[in-house]
Amino acid sequence: MSAAAQEFLRRAAEKSADLTHRKIIRFNMDQYDAAFARGQSRFSDWDAAREQCQRIKWEAINHLDRYLVEFEQRVKERGGHVFWAENSEEARKYVVDLAVSRGVKKVVKSKSMVTEEIHLSPALEKAGMEVFETDLGEYIVQLRNEPPYHIVTPAMHLNRGQIRDLFKEKLDGPDTEDPPELVAVARRTLRKAFFSAEMGISGANFLVADAGMIAITTNEGNGRLCTSVPRIHVAMTGIEKIIPRLQDLATLWPVLATSGTGQPITCYNTLIGGPRRDGEADGPEEFHVVLVDNGRSELLADPEQREVLHCIRCGACLNACPVFRSVGGHTYGTIYPGPIGSVLTPHLRGLDEFQHLSYASSLCGGCTDVCPVRIDLHHHLLHNRRNAIRAGTHPGRERLAFRFWRWMMMDAGRFRVLGGLARTALRVIHGLGLGGSVLDPMRPWTERRAPMPIPPASFRSLWRKTNGVR
Ligand code: SF4
Repeated sequence: MSAAAQEFLRRAAEKSADLTHRKIIRFNMDQYDAAFARGQSRFSDWDAAREQCQRIKWEAINHLDRYLVEFEQRVKERGGHVFWAENSEEARKYVVDLAVSRGVKKVVKSKSMVTEEIHLSPALEKAGMEVFETDLGEYIVQLRNEPPYHIVTPAMHLNRGQIRDLFKEKLDGPDTEDPPELVAVARRTLRKAFFSAEMGISGANFLVADAGMIAITTNEGNGRLCTSVPRIHVAMTGIEKIIPRLQDLATLWPVLATSGTGQPITCYNTLIGGPRRDGEADGPEEFHVVLVDNGRSELLADPEQREVLHCIRCGACLNACPVFRSVGGHTYGTIYPGPIGSVLTPHLRGLDEFQHLSYASSLCGGCTDVCPVRIDLHHHLLHNRRNAIRAGTHPGRERLAFRFWRWMMMDAGRFRVLGGLARTALRVIHGLGLGGSVLDPMRPWTERRAPMPIPPASFRSLWRKTNGVR
C-alpha cells in the first residue's frame, strides 16, 4: 500500500469518527442541498441546460488545439502575453521570474486551484514575496496554514467560533461570531494588500476562444480588485478551461453558479482581454496568461477518459459524495478532493501512488447524477481501478484472493459449500469469544460498528424454504 493510501486510511478513520467535524459538514451541506434544489428549479429544463454545457465542453476539448491557438492570437493582438507551461516547474518559474524581474514585493491572489496544483505561493514566498489570498475562505485557510478543504468553499470545515478565534489570534480581531464583523476584519487587512501589491494573480473559470478573453466569477469582488489594481495581472489556468464562443457563457455561467453554490448567477462575472489601453482609466499595465498542461495532454490522448477534462470545477460532485461528506476534503491529501479528484489525481500524480482514491467511492453514482457537464464520474473510477490492475500495481495476494473468489462464484455447488464453511467459521470465532480479535475476519468492519449478525442460513436455503423451488 502506498504511503498516500496509508495516510488516507488513517485520516479517514479519524475524520469519520470526529462528530464535531461531521456536524459542521452536515450543516453546510444541508444549506447547499437546499440552495442547489432551488437553483435547479429556476431553470425551465435543468437537464437540457446540462446537455448544452456537455456539448459546449465536448466541442472545446475535442478541438482544443484550434481553440487554444485562437485564444492566444486574440490575447496577443491586444498586447497580452501567453505562456504555455508543460508542467508545474515551468509554470512556477515563469511567474517567479516575471515577479523578480519587475521588482514585485507583494502579490494578491484570487481563488485558483491551478496555483494550488503547481504550489505557486510557496515558490513566490521563497523568492522573498508576500502573498495574500483574497478570497475570504482561501484567506482563512492561508492563515491556518492549511490547503483548501473544498474546491469552491475552502473553509467549509470551520464554524464561526473557530474563525473568531483565528482572527483574534492572527489579526487582533474582536471577540465576536457576527459574520459582518468578521468579514470587516479580513477586509481591513486585504484592502491594504490590494492597493499596495504590484502583482495580482487570478485563475480563469473559462478561456473564451473567439473573444480572446478570460472569464472569472467570484462572489466577493476580490477577483476584480486582483486583476485591475496591481500593475501586473497574471491569469493562471489549465488548458481545459477553453470554450469556443462568448455566447456559451450564457449557459455556462448560470449552470456553474447553480451547481457551485445554488445561486442563479455568481455576484461578479468579469471578462478580461488584455492590459489597460490608452485612454482607459484602470486595468493592469501588463497582462499574462499562463496555460498549464501538467498531464492534461495525456488525459486528452485517452479517448476513454478524455471527458474528465470537461470539468468546470463546480464542486457539486464533492457535495453529493457520501465518502467526501464523511471523511472531508483534507483526508484525500490531494489538491482536488472528492470524486473529480479521485478520477483526476491518478492521471496528474501517478496511478501507483493514488490508485487508492478510486476505491474511495460507494459507486452510488450520485456524483454523475449532479455533474453539470455530465461526466460519467463513477465509471471513470472503475476505469482507474481496472487500469491499476492491468498495470499490476495490486499485491499478488489480492489478485489470488479475487481469482479464488471468481472460481467460487462461477459454480453454484462450490459457492454453497464454501459459503456454509465461512458461516460456520464465523460462528466458531464468535462462540469462542474471539470476535474483535485479529482472528475475526470481520474485525476491520466491526472496529467502529456494531457487529453484523451471522445469518443462520444462506439466502439460497431461505429461498428454497419459502418458495419451495431450487
Ligand atoms: S466533475 Fe462535474 S460535478 Fe465535479 S466539479 Fe467537475 S463539473 Fe462539477
